[in-house]
Amino acid sequence: METVKQLPKTIKLFKFARKEASLHGDYKISAMPRISEIARNTEDRIKVALSFYLENDKTPCIKGIIKANIILDCQRCLEALPLELNVLFNLAFVRHESQAEELDTSFEIYNIGEEEDLDSIDLITDEILLSIPMAPSHDFDCSLKIDKEKEIVEKISKNPFDVLKNIKMADFGKE
Ligand SMILES: [Zn+2]
Repeated sequence: METVKQLPKTIKLFKFARKEASLHGDYKISAMPRISEIARNTEDRIKVALSFYLENDKTPCIKGIIKANIILDCQRCLEALPLELNVLFNLAFVRHESQAEELDTSFEIYNIGEEEDLDSIDLITDEILLSIPMAPSHDFDCSLKIDKEKEIVEKISKNPFDVLKNIKMADFGKE
């Protein structure tokens, strides 16, 4: 095993796997365009650790973890929705479908065809997006809050007339 080194911009899949490289990365969310589009906290950081190895002496694999705190918009109430991500994955990169059949179900299979190199940011972005729910929302019933706020607004807008009515009634009562 090599000592832990910085993950480069381009992953040399077969070379890294043969060397059993362990690489780590530390990125600003703003360095990942597709995450920046949905995150409110683009100045916060994403930490990544990847271990490369060859499965069955031929299939390059990556075992990894991504840690990040990403603040999204809740799709129900549109307020901030903090998400603590601990994404664990085990990826296998095959050249054709039949190669995937030799692997057990713990692997997430990527068919790379003739490709040798991968873009680090793309790979990490894909894994993060896969781990985020399709329509992220608070795990409590945040829609209730919206209804209550609307009620309050409605009451306030009615209030001036009610108050006026009450004063008039009170005045009449005196006479
Ligand atoms: Zn919500």
